[in-house]
Amino acid sequence: MATCLVRDADVLVTMDGARRELRGAGLYAVDGFIRQVGTTAELPARADVVLDLRGQIVLPGLVNAHHHLNQTLTRAFPAAQDAGLFDWLTAQYPAWTRIDAEASRTATLVGLAELLLSGCTTAFDHTYLYKNGNAVDVQVEAAREIGVRFHASRGSMSVGRSKGGLPPDEAVEDEAAILRDSERVIDRYHDPRPGAMTRVVLAPCAPFSVSADLLRESAALARAHGVRLHTHLAETLDEERYTRERFGVRPVEWMDGLGWVAGDVWFAHAVHVSDAEIGLFARAGCGVAHCPGSNMRLASGIAPVKKYMGAGVAVGVGVDGSASNDASNLLLEARQAMLLARLELGLRREGEARPGDWMSAREALELATLGGARVLGRDDVGSLEPGKCADFFTLDLGAIDYAGALHDPVAAVVFCAPTRARFTVVHGRVVVADGRVATVDMAPVIERHNRLAAALAKG
Ligand SMILES: [Zn+2]
Repeated sequence: MATCLVRDADVLVTMDGARRELRGAGLYAVDGFIRQVGTTAELPARADVVLDLRGQIVLPGLVNAHHHLNQTLTRAFPAAQDAGLFDWLTAQYPAWTRIDAEASRTATLVGLAELLLSGCTTAFDHTYLYKNGNAVDVQVEAAREIGVRFHASRGSMSVGRSKGGLPPDEAVEDEAAILRDSERVIDRYHDPRPGAMTRVVLAPCAPFSVSADLLRESAALARAHGVRLHTHLAETLDEERYTRERFGVRPVEWMDGLGWVAGDVWFAHAVHVSDAEIGLFARAGCGVAHCPGSNMRLASGIAPVKKYMGAGVAVGVGVDGSASNDASNLLLEARQAMLLARLELGLRREGEARPGDWMSAREALELATLGGARVLGRDDVGSLEPGKCADFFTLDLGAIDYAGALHDPVAAVVFCAPTRARFTVVHGRVVVADGRVATVDMAPVIERHNRLAAALAKG
């Protein structure tokens, strides 16, 4: 029996049903699950691991709803710095096609380390390009080593340029091989149990790089095994033009016709949607991964997040791939979500804004915790309460960034410049200690990663 005790935190944000924020508080966990949350006096006095958190705030671990970890190899890629989605993709496909297992391993460790240092404890990754012997196994092993709770995708692309798709032919795979490997990966890694550290998601890339058959068959395979489905949708107006010209329908209609607007699906972006489509998402129970940094970086548009929330659609926050952000900082992304929703409010033409139209700091935190858990289909993470996983992070309230804001420390962590996590704990295991990754020596990984990235950029 492994026990973990947190005590004397200045503030502990529970995100429980009453959204309690406790002062002078902590929690007690056994074998990775929370037994008690409360004031320090109410908790046991001893444990195997004890964190004294005076001067710190404790928050539920953030949940990242969309990422492409391998893109940490092409951050600030020269040919893709000032381009919209399709040109940005086209500029990078050749480099991504050369990523091998070693490059994917360093990229995964770098991206996950950055996420952990920003308070993320559960991460979904959407990899869809497997060449040069690379496979999902590489990322699952890296995630286990560093200690994050990981939802790996078996993503895919099957429609290359010669068949009317956007990616070059050498970047796509044979559909039968994709489905075979998808089944292998589910059998090998998907853990449906509460507290699971590894789950698998099937994630064909986008309407302009996979076929209707692959979408249908991926959905059937996922549903036969009880795993979730994910893809990019309605990200840009270029994509909308593509589906209209090629399939005669809007992106959401296209996916709906293939059985993909459903309760076991969440879409990345979903920027360009009508009010009727928002209603359809709400009725079907499908979710959205909101990626504000990427949407701004690629000039994709502003997702109607407050409308989604008002309609009851599950919304999580995703940093998106590191080549379109170019950070994997989820606390920063929660802040961007709040700010971008406010910009959208300012650009609205119709009527006066009402108080509830403003996205609050606490709403942004809720999207990045409970919202992410909901889109990933998890009820065991996202809040700190008995029975849930002991996943949390802490921030040092003495940091210069929060000076003058401590009348509301919870709002401060979103309004003020994001700081690095002091501690990040996943399933009761300390993975970030005193602001450093405690599980993997990152210096040699970063050195190797930079060498591999330079080789990719050279071509
Ligand atoms: Zn993406």
